[in-house]
Amino acid sequence: MRNVLVVISGPSGVGKGTLVRALLAEDDKLVESVSCTTRAPRAGEVNGREYFFISKEEFRDRIAANDFLEYDEHFDNFYGTPRSFVERQLKEKSVVLEIDVVGGLNAKRLMPKSAVLIMVAPPSLEELEKRLSGRGSEDEVQLNERMRRVRYELDQAPLYDYVVVNDDLQRAKREIQDIIRKEKEKTI
Ligand code: 5GP
Repeated sequence: MRNVLVVISGPSGVGKGTLVRALLAEDDKLVESVSCTTRAPRAGEVNGREYFFISKEEFRDRIAANDFLEYDEHFDNFYGTPRSFVERQLKEKSVVLEIDVVGGLNAKRLMPKSAVLIMVAPPSLEELEKRLSGRGSEDEVQLNERMRRVRYELDQAPLYDYVVVNDDLQRAKREIQDIIRKEKEKTI
């Protein structure tokens, strides 16, 4: 069986993080790649767990050294997937990346044989909007901007290999586990 690079994308609030944690907890042949970012850590985030928090200067140096498999800019900050970690891990295990659609499509372009793109979608846009506004952490302008981004991400779904609707965590998790199993069995 081969190892695959599982890219999990989808709009914020859709439950990607919870799904990824559930997948990792049940599969010791799956590891997560921790991205680098130049944004400041949020409360509760730990360096090396959610992200490696690095300066813009270091990020630029690492771009120049070809250290990132892919990278992108969001809201004035850089985010990137460390190449050496992914390449090393893929020799032993499958690797999961939780990144946005631009990063996912770049990963597929760079590693077309290994990358499996999975979009996690909400049961409906209304449902997701309710969930996001329920967080209460954003004003209306920010919420509109976020919903614009949500629609953009979901519009890219046809470019992904699979779309999994997160209507129920256990069901969605099993669907992704089936996809990973099937993809690992493919001979390419
Ligand atoms: P946040 O700042 O909310 O943690 O993440 C902002 C955005 O950056 C999210 O859409 C997230 O998926 C994306 N992101 C996180 N890590 C990476 C990465 O390594 N590469 C790319 N292209 N996007 C990333």
